[in-house]
This record gives sequence, structure tokens and C-alpha cells, in this order.
Amino acid sequence: MGEKIVLDEEFTEKISDWDESDVGKRIAKRVTPNGTYFNELVVHVFCQFCASEFIGPAREAGGFLGGHECFHAWEISQAIGREDGLVE
Ligand SMILES: [Zn+2]
Repeated sequence: MGEKIVLDEEFTEKISDWDESDVGKRIAKRVTPNGTYFNELVVHVFCQFCASEFIGPAREAGGFLGGHECFHAWEISQAIGREDGLVE
């Protein structure tokens, strides 16, 4: 009694192909060409512009969100450019 078990988190054995059942779990170790990730959380995110979804490590989710943000910003800049062209 009175003992606090901090290590209550669930881990997933998967190192790829994550799905809804893995969201909220941690990946104990993930080796990539860029480095080794430890205790990384599996998250579920979506793009607020086009509603694409992603399930995977938090690091990759950041890349997904940043990549979509960058792409949609480019789309907008192209649309603005086209409008300017029509006015000319
Ligand atoms: Zn998007």
C-alpha cells in the first residue's frame, strides 16, 4: 500500500505497421538511419487541411503534419499566383 507504480505504460512490440490498437502505447526501441528512438509514443494525427490521417511514432507524426502544412502552403501560393496571372 502506498506504493506508486510509475511504469504503468503499455508498450507495443511493433516496429512498423502501427494501427488504432497501438495508439497511446510506446515503442521501446526504434532503429532508423537517422538514429535510435527509445520509449516513443504512438500517436494518431490528421491534417486539418485535407483530412489525411497518420498513425505512428510522434517523431514521424511531426513530419507528417509539417509535410502537409508545407504542401498546402505551396498549393495556396500557387492558387494566388494563378489569380494574379488572370488579372494581368
Ligand atoms: Zn493535408
